[in-house]
Amino acid sequence: VDGVVREEMDSFCRHFKGIDRRFRLISKIGEGTFSSVYKAEDLLYDRYENDWDLDASDDGRDRSPPPSKRRKFTETQRRRPKYVAIKKIYVTSSPQRIMNELELLHELRGCRDVVPLITAFRHLDQVVAILPYFKHVDFRTYFRALSFDDMRLYFKSLFNALSHVHRCKIIHRDIKPTNFLYDYARRRGVLVDFGLAEREGTDWSHCPCQLSGLSKSHNSLMQATTLSTGYIKNDNRPSRRANRAGTRGFRAPEVLFKCTSQTTKIDIWSAGVVLLTMLSKRFPFFNSADDVDATIEIATIFGKARMRSCALLHGAVFETNIPTIGEKGFTLEKIIMWATNRIAGGGGKEREKDELREANMSATEKVACEFLARCLELDPAKRIDADEAMEHEFLRGL
Ligand code: ADP
Ligand code: MG
Repeated sequence: VDGVVREEMDSFCRHFKGIDRRFRLISKIGEGTFSSVYKAEDLLYDRYENDWDLDASDDGRDRSPPPSKRRKFTETQRRRPKYVAIKKIYVTSSPQRIMNELELLHELRGCRDVVPLITAFRHLDQVVAILPYFKHVDFRTYFRALSFDDMRLYFKSLFNALSHVHRCKIIHRDIKPTNFLYDYARRRGVLVDFGLAEREGTDWSHCPCQLSGLSKSHNSLMQATTLSTGYIKNDNRPSRRANRAGTRGFRAPEVLFKCTSQTTKIDIWSAGVVLLTMLSKRFPFFNSADDVDATIEIATIFGKARMRSCALLHGAVFETNIPTIGEKGFTLEKIIMWATNRIAGGGGKEREKDELREANMSATEKVACEFLARCLELDPAKRIDADEAMEHEFLRGL
């Protein structure tokens, strides 16, 4: 541990009253937008085995189980250190935001693929969440080397976590590799970071996509009325507000188009982006800094026609005159072939067809592509959900 981090950890232990009686900080394992995370040894670990929360909470009530129910440990068990991750949430986060994260984590306990909250402490304005330490390696070190079976196991774990979270009607909002800690050696992952998570239906207001069933006629009507006005100068329509929280490159199209009734399907899109990264062996796959550019990146794949209907679903209009964006777009298989240098870009239509036929994809890769297409469905209503995903050929029977 370098001197600066050591000093930072010492300072934290000095200022957070009593923390050093329970934890010995070992190293810094994460530094995010909202927190610093440290690996630490829990010096009193046996006190909360069996999922008991033994800490007297702020209201003074001791939630410990009676001594008779406490687990007895043998000497060898006692000597094996127990590691935890201490998530020190920046004091600039609002109390509501911190409370929300802890509350959702608590509610989600009980799924092996979601990180369980052991406990949490507050000293003055500083809150720390205590989580079991989960060994993992940086995504960038292994994502290019994954076999299709490796990918299937990775997504089995991720979609199992999502299925649990979504059944609880919670949207994670920030699915990406750094928030899904994967232990490549053990083929196991855990979903972490509920800092942006929210209950489905929070700030919900009507969005035309909810009528998606009757969309065809509705859409063409909308298109006729909106497009006839052309580009609007001195736009005095009320601006639309929608939750955009998430990470660039992983935002679903409905988030980009400011849908006001976002659902758990936004997490499925982000998981799809992770799979696209693995299949194309490119990370980050999407990388634009703002939402307009992000829309353009997506349009480059899907084409103008599908982007127009996608925008209309949410009462928005998509138009572009960027010459590289075609009307029809490409299949995801083709994008993956390009990204992995199995076919050359450009050339006539016929040549491309031949090349695609020659650069054959294995049957497993085709199944992966088919699953990918179900996750990256532009219309959230048509996109696969986590439970359906578990039944898809890509994940079934593992
Ligand atoms: P933030 O909201 O700041 O992104 P996260 O909860 O995502 O915070 O944690 C930041 C990083 O800390 C993670 O990407 C991961 O590397 C590490 N981390 C978080 N929780 C754990 C854990 N339980 N075990 C091991 N490492 C963790
Ligand atoms: Mg994070």
